[in-house]
Amino acid sequence: MRNTWRNDKYAAAERARKFMNVLRAILVASMAWSVAAQAAECPRKGSLGTSRILSVDAATTPRVGLMSFPQTLPLEDHEVVLTFDDGPWPPTTPRVLAALARECVRATFFLIGKPASEHPELVRRIAAEGHSIGHHTWLHRSLKQIPASETREEIDRGIAADEMALHGVATTTPSTPFFRFPGLETTPATLDLLQSRRIVVFGTDLWANDWIPMTPSQQLKLITDRLRIARKGIILFHDPQAQTAAMLPAFLRYLRDNHYRVVHVVPAAVATHVNGAP
Ligand SMILES: [Zn+2]
Repeated sequence: MRNTWRNDKYAAAERARKFMNVLRAILVASMAWSVAAQAAECPRKGSLGTSRILSVDAATTPRVGLMSFPQTLPLEDHEVVLTFDDGPWPPTTPRVLAALARECVRATFFLIGKPASEHPELVRRIAAEGHSIGHHTWLHRSLKQIPASETREEIDRGIAADEMALHGVATTTPSTPFFRFPGLETTPATLDLLQSRRIVVFGTDLWANDWIPMTPSQQLKLITDRLRIARKGIILFHDPQAQTAAMLPAFLRYLRDNHYRVVHVVPAAVATHVNGAP
């Protein structure tokens, strides 16, 4: 009797375990299917789409962005590079990702290390959806205003946190060697340090001032007015800003309707792997 009871209990536990395994398999399969379905949908007729992939090499372009440096990326008229700083941020980053996916465009996210360490699944989702991941320090302190002895730690801890979230390895050698200074505040010593490590420093060509509170429609007008004058360039947004997440679908439609083309930047070493990808 006792054995029967034990056998029944064992059988029930075994059934529950099998049921959980089936559930897990269904979940994994459906996630794989949705990623595959999304990839298969791009490029999609009527969407903006990514027009080309540009590989960026620190050897030839160590620093880009006209707001900080004399040179920028070699973009043609009406070509833009979309960049988002200060994430990942669960309330808004997924909305930004959804808007980008809807229009089949790829962007670059400059992550802050601490939130990346707190939301590794969101970091992996950004990468899984084909976007480039650059680095933006550990705590977003201005590298110009903190003691010089702390700048390397701030940079490296941020890179290591992003890499840990992405690949499970806390390396200070970034898999995508792109970096943006918090507040675009550089110092000669940190610029030299990054150049010696062949990490490309991204400034920007224009920005949306989206750290200043405004409505999404004011935000849209500000950035499209600037883009009309600049005609091309690296554009800086902040994905933790709700007004930016709300404005982005309309901005991407504006780009499509006005014949702008989105260029996806990738590090030179991986360019051959992603060329030809949608
Ligand atoms: Zn920032």
